[in-house]
Amino acid sequence: MHDSMNRREWLRFLGGSGLAAGMGTWAATAQQAHGSGFQSSILARHKIEENRANPVVVDGRVMQPQRELPILHHTDVLVLGGGSAGVCAAIAAKRAGAEVCLVERYGHFGGLWTGGLVLLILGHIVEGGKQVCQGIGEEMMRRLDKMEGAIVNRRPRTNPTVDAEATKYLMVEMIEEAGVDVFLHCWGVDAICNGNSVQGAVFESKSGRQAILAKVVIDASGDGDLFAAAGAAFEHRSHNVGLVTRIANLDRVDRERAEQAARPRLLGSVTPVPGVNWVNMAGPEIDGLDVRELTRMEMNHRKFIWQNIQRTRRTPGYEQVYLTETAPQLGVRITRVLHGLHTLTRDDLQAGRRFPDSVGVGGSEHGQHGEWQIPYGTLVPLEVDHVLAAGRCVSAEMRMADLVRLIPNCFVTGHAAGVAAAVCVADGCPPREVEVAKVQKILQEQEAYLG
Ligand SMILES: Cc1cc2nc3c(=O)[nH]c(=O)nc-3n(C[C@H](O)[C@H](O)[C@H](O)COP(=O)(O)OP(=O)(O)OC[C@H]3O[C@@H](n4cnc5c(N)ncnc54)[C@H](O)[C@@H]3O)c2cc1C
Repeated sequence: MHDSMNRREWLRFLGGSGLAAGMGTWAATAQQAHGSGFQSSILARHKIEENRANPVVVDGRVMQPQRELPILHHTDVLVLGGGSAGVCAAIAAKRAGAEVCLVERYGHFGGLWTGGLVLLILGHIVEGGKQVCQGIGEEMMRRLDKMEGAIVNRRPRTNPTVDAEATKYLMVEMIEEAGVDVFLHCWGVDAICNGNSVQGAVFESKSGRQAILAKVVIDASGDGDLFAAAGAAFEHRSHNVGLVTRIANLDRVDRERAEQAARPRLLGSVTPVPGVNWVNMAGPEIDGLDVRELTRMEMNHRKFIWQNIQRTRRTPGYEQVYLTETAPQLGVRITRVLHGLHTLTRDDLQAGRRFPDSVGVGGSEHGQHGEWQIPYGTLVPLEVDHVLAAGRCVSAEMRMADLVRLIPNCFVTGHAAGVAAAVCVADGCPPREVEVAKVQKILQEQEAYLG
């Protein structure tokens, strides 16, 4: 980084990163020259605008006047949400030849996998230990395996656990390698529609309210924010909402003293970092779309977690265990689930039903089920066009939801949605009319397993 920067940029980097103080005379002199070492400029001076379109209160109701939105970007495929499904979708679509833009409300990729600290990859295997999650999901695991301290338990028939920071890093690397355009810190708030056809999305960010226009949109928001805004049919479900944590110093537990007392509850499971465990939480069943409920959960869980770690630290032998972090992202498992052209059922799984439009195969937590194919129709809304779903919000009945939402299964539906979207763009057709055989061929070329 040093070599590619000029002196001024290097000084700014040191100052901005808070490193300057410890970096010797050169940096210290530069700090003095610039006062604090930080730099700041006036970019514009705004005066009061006469033609604003602020919401107004009319007869006690808040009304939003009509206004033009700036267009931030034009693209072929717009992916809303950079979780496990969205990242796979974006990379797959780009590798299949489309221009792709990925938009994410937070500052990192991975969604619940990293931001929710859900580090354990369940569901990549089926009965007999065969690994059915291949393609981009498997590529990520393979690449994590080559990184120091990024993944543990990556062995046949075993569920691996990743490090959140290594995974966020890898996703940046893979997204950049693929050449996907990215907007972070952008919250998708509406769908741009022409009748039943989606043409893009509206986003809120620190840059204001802006639009991105696209030929096909993939809703990988987990909550179906976009397909719901576009008027697609869906089921609104409640589920358990928890808050995952990481605790440290488990390698400093005094085993001898620990044997004298009951083992504390909630010590979690291993991560790639020695002595650090991730602690899952089921939490109560609530509506994950209700902001009051989300607020209540976040605050209650935070109190519970803190009090629990204090109890642990009072247990003989466990005095040095401490809470390193609570997940930045609340653990919302299921909210909106698409009503698609095909709804996956438990009967499909139990019968081992095979689908001519299979775009992937799902696995189960501990390989307790056989292979279950995922038909393309689970990604396609019943009525709304030019939008596909991917990840935990694809069309599946209640009894399938806890399988469909597992991380590898989200990789698989994301991968499939990305390739399908690219084929739609290339052939100029809406997702419901895509030639599935073409999608399947490209998926196989991209090393996906379709059963
Ligand atoms: C507590 C908990 C424990 C779990 N345990 C396991 C486990 O052990 N193993 C396992 O395999 N699975 C587990 N799961 C399930 C799994 O983590 C998730 O189902 C999976 O990660 C979902 O991936 P996704 O990409 O579909 O959605 P998400 O990970 O939710 O990603 C959606 C992305 O979209 C972004 N987004 C959402 N709305 C917008 C918007 N309007 N605008 C812009 N961006 C938006 C989000 O910030 C996020 O990055 C668990 C889930 C929870 C909550």
